[in-house]
Amino acid sequence: KKQEWAKLKDESTVSSDGEHVELAANIGTPDDVAGVLENGGEGIGLYRTEFLYMGKNQLPTEEEQFDAYSSVLKQMGDKPVVVRTLDIGGDKELDYLDLPDEMNPFLGFRAIRLCLERDDIFRTQLRALLRAGVYGNLKIMFPMIATLEEFRQAKAILTEEKEKLINEGTDVADQFEVGIMVEIPATAVLAKQFAKEVDFFSIGTNDLIQYTMAADRMNERVSYLYQPYSPAILNLVSNVIEAAHAEGKWAGMCGEMAGDEIAIPILLGLGLDEFSMSASSILPARTQLLELSKEEMKSYKEELLSMGTSEDVVAFVKEKANLA
Ligand code: PEP
Ligand code: MG
Repeated sequence: KKQEWAKLKDESTVSSDGEHVELAANIGTPDDVAGVLENGGEGIGLYRTEFLYMGKNQLPTEEEQFDAYSSVLKQMGDKPVVVRTLDIGGDKELDYLDLPDEMNPFLGFRAIRLCLERDDIFRTQLRALLRAGVYGNLKIMFPMIATLEEFRQAKAILTEEKEKLINEGTDVADQFEVGIMVEIPATAVLAKQFAKEVDFFSIGTNDLIQYTMAADRMNERVSYLYQPYSPAILNLVSNVIEAAHAEGKWAGMCGEMAGDEIAIPILLGLGLDEFSMSASSILPARTQLLELSKEEMKSYKEELLSMGTSEDVVAFVKEKANLA
């Protein structure tokens, strides 16, 4: 099997009826890029920048960040690199920020919420990104967006920093897409409105599932509720993809679900454009996608979206997509 996969390393990902989808990888550091290229990644769909901030006792400087971001962009050449701005909080703490304890950290002061309040931290990161963007195909993505106002504020800060850099005579990326993670149900529901303003969506199912089902993704006692195939999740995902396409935008997914063999046929049929996963899942996913007909999977869409349980979804997909 490994040998079969290896042959597909430089192939693009095309369904049996000729439809291309992009298979990208999730990374945490510049050192991960080599593995992405070895596994035939067509891009980086999620660069989790928080690792630059963790395991140390102070914030990373603009230069440190510039080095990391430009290294990833250079290694990827003209392939797209979606960099997610700082997503700290929740389960990821930074001791040196000395934030007060919270009753519900996953529902608390994290990610874009923190960045909009501590905009000194945010601006430093955006400057590093704008400068690094000169070296490759950068896309910037904001995490944990719950409202349009948050997106507008974040984008306004980005524009301000870009103008400052230009006025200082610094080279910055001039054309790049700015998108959001869809990992909060409110945002998935309101995708139509968001799609008019963002350049792309990337669905973060790890959080979207926990928030939709109200089940902590780290708590084993409620892990039975962590259901990627729940029709509730599929309806949200479908809504996001349809909203993106209606505005001529693209929709990807960077949660674990994107690399899952039962989810892949469903997502293909729902029209997902980009699947971002751990590097080791790319070649198995490509192998699977080459055998699937997008048109056929699309013909099951309405039936899947009207099902009542995850179990029904799984049984149906296993049969239709020839999974044991
Ligand atoms: C997600 O929530 O699905 C996601 C990709 O982000 P993280 O796992 O880093 O929260
Ligand atoms: Mg998340």
